Amino acid sequence: MQSYRHILLAVDFSDTDSSVIERATNLAKQYEAEISIIHVVDNLPVSEPGYDVLNSLDFELTEVLIDKTKKQLSALAEELSVPEERCHQRMGRPVSEVVALAEEEQIDLIVIGSHGRHGLGLLLGSTANGVLHHAKCDVLAVRIYD
Ligand code: AMP
Repeated sequence: MQSYRHILLAVDFSDTDSSVIERATNLAKQYEAEISIIHVVDNLPVSEPGYDVLNSLDFELTEVLIDKTKKQLSALAEELSVPEERCHQRMGRPVSEVVALAEEEQIDLIVIGSHGRHGLGLLLGSTANGVLHHAKCDVLAVRIYD
């Protein structure tokens, strides 16, 4: 039977995270695997070029988001006893960043929610769908019930 050594837990800090976290930690115990955690800051606003005031508001909002999610990530890492070097906050498209990190860190299982922030009402959200299509390792999409 396939044994996993390094599991990547992807969190979007929505209400759906708890089942995903529980499944990833249970699997890590079962396989005596390491856990890494990723959160991607994705929802950056895009202002019209030329409107300096809006651009500076975008910048401030981005800084606030980065700061807030960095704290949430540290708190989760502490709760799960995951060391800092296995905690990743990235910026960009969640699908690309999750898939890229999985390859860089030789992850053999990615654990995500079937839907989170973007997929409410769908069987599979856009991030879950993209990761399932593009990841080179196994992906577990934990079924989230609405
Ligand atoms: P979605 O398909 O966007 O509704 O989200 C499905 C799952 O993808 C979530 O439950 C998370 O596990 C993961 N995910 C979504 N957005 C992010 C993000 N920004 N950073 C890390 N993981 C994410």
